[in-house]
Amino acid sequence: MVQVNVDLPKCTGCAHCRDVCPVNVFEMKPRDQFPGVVDDAAVAAKFQFRTERSAVINGPECIVCEACLFECEGECITITDDEGNLHHSTYK
Ligand code: SF4
Ligand code: SF4
Repeated sequence: MVQVNVDLPKCTGCAHCRDVCPVNVFEMKPRDQFPGVVDDAAVAAKFQFRTERSAVINGPECIVCEACLFECEGECITITDDEGNLHHSTYK
């Protein structure tokens, strides 16, 4: 089973992942639903955080197209495919 993970402390809430995913793996949720998450200092310094985060809700539907990996400005998405290979964000 393909597993998609978002490293929440690094997520800027840009919603690029939700916008590009062809199978709707991502949903934006209010940041206050993750009270234990502390913003990554380096990411916070680089981007202006918004009031949303992304959360994975339909991970098994991921088809590993890698579109989200190219667009994730927080470089916080990791995907483990059916063969156990890791795919990381590659935003430039
Ligand atoms: S790799 Fe493709 S299908 Fe999987 S979560 Fe990212 S955009 Fe969606
Ligand atoms: S693209 Fe990355 S930084 Fe932007 S909302 Fe999605 S997971 Fe967060």
